[in-house]
Amino acid sequence: MRINHLPTDPAPDDRPAGGDPAAAGHDLPDHRRLGRELKLFATEPLVGAGLPLWLPDGAVIRAELEKLAAEEAIRGGCQRVFTPVLAKRALFERSGHWDKFSDDMFPPMRVGEEEFVLRPANCPHHALVYASEQRSYRDLPVRLAELGAMFRSELSGVLGGLSRVRQINLDDTHVFCAPDQVPGEIGRAAASVQRCYRLLGIEVARYRLSRRGSGDGYLGHRDVWAAAERHLAEALADLGIEFEDAPGEAAFYGPKIDVQVVDPAGREETLSTVQLDFNQPERFGLWFTGPDGGRHRPVMIHRGVLSAMERLVAFLIERYDGAFPPWLAPVQLVVMPVGEQHAGRAREAAGRAADAGLRTECDPPDATLGTRIRRARDRKIPYVAVIGDREDAAGRVALRLRDGRRLDGVGVERLVEEVSRQVASRSAGLGF
Ligand SMILES: [Zn+2]
Repeated sequence: MRINHLPTDPAPDDRPAGGDPAAAGHDLPDHRRLGRELKLFATEPLVGAGLPLWLPDGAVIRAELEKLAAEEAIRGGCQRVFTPVLAKRALFERSGHWDKFSDDMFPPMRVGEEEFVLRPANCPHHALVYASEQRSYRDLPVRLAELGAMFRSELSGVLGGLSRVRQINLDDTHVFCAPDQVPGEIGRAAASVQRCYRLLGIEVARYRLSRRGSGDGYLGHRDVWAAAERHLAEALADLGIEFEDAPGEAAFYGPKIDVQVVDPAGREETLSTVQLDFNQPERFGLWFTGPDGGRHRPVMIHRGVLSAMERLVAFLIERYDGAFPPWLAPVQLVVMPVGEQHAGRAREAAGRAADAGLRTECDPPDATLGTRIRRARDRKIPYVAVIGDREDAAGRVALRLRDGRRLDGVGVERLVEEVSRQVASRSAGLGF
């Protein structure tokens, strides 16, 4: 039996690689079309399928999400680490990836007498970070967070957009704790998921308890699995979270809670996961000193809240139909002089917004105002500040919001303050 996903791996989706719902007569947002139109990412044959280039505007969105992931990690009591994207093949033999997952890994690279592979996951690296010092029960839980690159040797035929790729940049945390700390840590993970989803405007479709299936593609004894599955089910019940049973959907080394979401086309996918693992600590010989002075085995929890940046950004592009809330918008404010004679005042206003940290553009008067406003609307810019004769004289702007509202005579000071407030609070709305 081939287990085709890892604990924090988003489950592969089943959309066709080249299909475009818009072209097929649907009017559903499609991240590949929007990604092209809004210049968020591109794929180049010379680089390879499934290896998207993040263009400047797409990179802004990803950087904002990475910032959120880092803040959330700190808030959740995690320590951040950085580990290499490749390692000796022996590391993944030890972890069991080589045995259970090598069909999905790139082939080894030989360097002298050694063989290296691109990592499919960073769990083994984090197990070794844990093992890098002696741990006491007083040090637990140890929570290690990293947003890093993982690799999948997918065949080019199935690749498309950001949702099927060969490199994912995964928001991943590994918690090492005593067995009695597991319920608290599951609660902490669920709280983090709920906090982030509220902020991102994502609704949970359902929670899924993904269990061991009937095949033999799993690491570890059935009894250990049964205990882990019971732990997860109890933790969910304690949190009052309803869930669905999914036999056969587990990762190869442990059962997991999958947080399922639905895209605008009605397709369900896994975004966040929390996985309970008794096997990796065993394989890496991890231990901590207990209150009794003896050696005890920690439990490892794999927690992926924001998922892969590729998966999350693809989902959000469609969720917002490209009209991102101000804090995620690649360009937040465009200042638009009506004519060349207003350009000085426009540059001044744009400069003040940029000084306040807002992503601002000053639009050159190279076409009619109507054309330029349409251009900004096509780019789904949240705020457009127009400066004509009247505004120039009064030192104000005529504000056009993406939601269609028009506000005349807005002071530049107020404009910058209000937009900054919306951005800082990561609010979904436009304010004013
Ligand atoms: Zn992991």
